[in-house]
Amino acid sequence: MAVKFPRIFVPIKSGDCMKKINYFGSMFVIGLLCINTRAVSQNASEKQMKAPAYQSVINNQNIFDFPPLPYSYDALEPYIDKLTVEIHYSKHHKAYYDNFTKAIAGTEMESMDIIDIFKNISKYPVAIRNNGGGYFNHTFYWESMKPQGGETPTGELSASIIKTFGSFEEFKKQFEESGKMRFGSGWAWLCLDDKGKLFICSTPNQDNPLMDIAEKKGIPLLTVDVWEHAYYLKYQNKRADYLTAFWNVVDWNNVSKRYENAYKSLNLK
Ligand code: MN
Repeated sequence: MAVKFPRIFVPIKSGDCMKKINYFGSMFVIGLLCINTRAVSQNASEKQMKAPAYQSVINNQNIFDFPPLPYSYDALEPYIDKLTVEIHYSKHHKAYYDNFTKAIAGTEMESMDIIDIFKNISKYPVAIRNNGGGYFNHTFYWESMKPQGGETPTGELSASIIKTFGSFEEFKKQFEESGKMRFGSGWAWLCLDDKGKLFICSTPNQDNPLMDIAEKKGIPLLTVDVWEHAYYLKYQNKRADYLTAFWNVVDWNNVSKRYENAYKSLNLK
């Protein structure tokens, strides 16, 4: 088993070791950090083998990092404006992350996979549900989009969407409807259930379909944030217009990859 160091001493990428040189000013400490880097990556790959669904739902190596935005603030213009993305990522998302790391400090959750935390979310304080959800959901949302996205799904996902919803257009209609109908704040999702069937659902606040309290549980594949902070500056009260525009920035490549990985992780015959 890898020796666990306090989180602040855990560099994830080998380049981070170099950044610590000035800070600690000691080759002894650098040595320890580099040894620990190897221990952590070994630990991370062990974790992925044990939890196949982990990689299928999120791209980040270390779930407890605050992940960089995968594109610039203005990259989703004109569909999602620069100021909205900047505030949404650097203020809202960051606050969920900060509050989540504070809430898990010194608890068993610090060394748990976030997917396992969600599976038992009803046993944990509500701060974990709200901030852990907010942290995960936003990362998942950013990675659901890309600049110049919006092509249509291909391959197995495309076939599955047509089989489940009748057509891609019908799927889009139902997904938008799910986002529009969410009263107050929340999320709309495309998910895979444990039988390998696609379904659309919506969750309130910062809940998600991985949580044990979810009305219908599943592996998320695509999400859209329908909190007002996600669209209000550009679309004001017109949530429906934001949902229509969303299709122009969906990263179907990534959603298809999530589908394939999620499907494999179910080990269906
Ligand atoms: Mn949000």
